[in-house]
Amino acid sequence: MTGAILVVGEVHDGRLIGATLEAIGKARELAGDGGVVGFVAGSTVEPAAREFADRGVANVHWAKNAEFDDGAAGRFAPSVVSVAEATGADLILVGGTTLGRDLAGQIAIRWNAAAATGVTEVRRDGSGLHVRRPIFGGRATETRHLEGSRAVLALRPHAFPEASESRVDVLLEPAARIDPPAGWRESKRLGVETAPAGSGPGLTDASIIVSGGRGVRAPENFHLIEELAASLGAAVGASRAVTDAGWRPASYQVGQTGKTVSPQLYVAVGISGAIQHIVGMVSSRVIVAINSDASAPIFKVADYGIVGDLFQIVPALTSEIRKVRGL
Ligand SMILES: Cc1cc2nc3c(=O)[nH]c(=O)nc-3n(C[C@H](O)[C@H](O)[C@H](O)COP(=O)(O)OP(=O)(O)OC[C@H]3O[C@@H](n4cnc5c(N)ncnc54)[C@H](O)[C@@H]3O)c2cc1C
Repeated sequence: MTGAILVVGEVHDGRLIGATLEAIGKARELAGDGGVVGFVAGSTVEPAAREFADRGVANVHWAKNAEFDDGAAGRFAPSVVSVAEATGADLILVGGTTLGRDLAGQIAIRWNAAAATGVTEVRRDGSGLHVRRPIFGGRATETRHLEGSRAVLALRPHAFPEASESRVDVLLEPAARIDPPAGWRESKRLGVETAPAGSGPGLTDASIIVSGGRGVRAPENFHLIEELAASLGAAVGASRAVTDAGWRPASYQVGQTGKTVSPQLYVAVGISGAIQHIVGMVSSRVIVAINSDASAPIFKVADYGIVGDLFQIVPALTSEIRKVRGL
């Protein structure tokens, strides 16, 4: 595989999301003679196309059309495939978001390509692509060889560094408008519930998360978790015990029936580490657990553990972090 690598841009509030910047970084690292090509689609595409150029990708194809704002993969896939064919791409990278994972499947079918989602490592050589990704809820990692001359990969958010800045002049190419085929059926987005304002970065996007569990004892103590999170610029999460008790909304829940997250740093405070919680956060890069019970299962997955009373440890930690960060 030595053709171009096509990165599909996902845009939020007019800007490329972090998962796309990570995909650009990986594409630049893997690119051979074919180079890297970008694709953006939606009602506002110019700022996002320029962001591609700020990260070293000059050749950006775009489809300016509000129909793409719906985030429906079935609408994106035909245009992405047409750009791949026009530019001689043999590898398509997407951020492993909800859209990206849906898109990987749709592209694979239309483009007759091998596909993998949740990818955390990629190697490209003469025999094709070798990828690694967590399986069984993060309890194992598989290595997979993708055969064939074309592949599409959805990269797990936060598994790769964002592309460094490297400004180039952007060459904008309108992508041919491709309508979905006759008889096309697509799910329609009926609504979007956004996370409450002022609660820091969104959970799935955050590079640092501080989560609180039943060990916090009562909703009026949850400010300890929020203050620690604020000192780190982190998002706030919770175990199901907390959301079931109504201490925090269900949107905070991390785990099997909540959100799957993979930040750079996950701090679990007063969380026992039930398997249903672990599957949602185990692929975090560094896990810190604070728990008064030294035998709590959370310590089995933690890189750093503090055994002790959270009511003493958390305020002390928050105050030290504030001092160090000059807050
Ligand atoms: C089908 C199914 C799906 C589920 N999905 C999820 C899910 O998505 N996410 C999820 O989180 N759970 C989920 N659960 C629930 C899960 O099994 C656990 O019940 C839940 O995670 C427990 O939450 P917790 O760790 O906050 O509470 P507990 O298990 O009660 O743990 C509280 C911890 O706090 C510690 N503690 C107490 N006081 C202090 C103190 N002063 N200082 C420090 N530590 C202290 C204790 O030692 C204990 O380890 C699911 C369960 C089922 C059956």
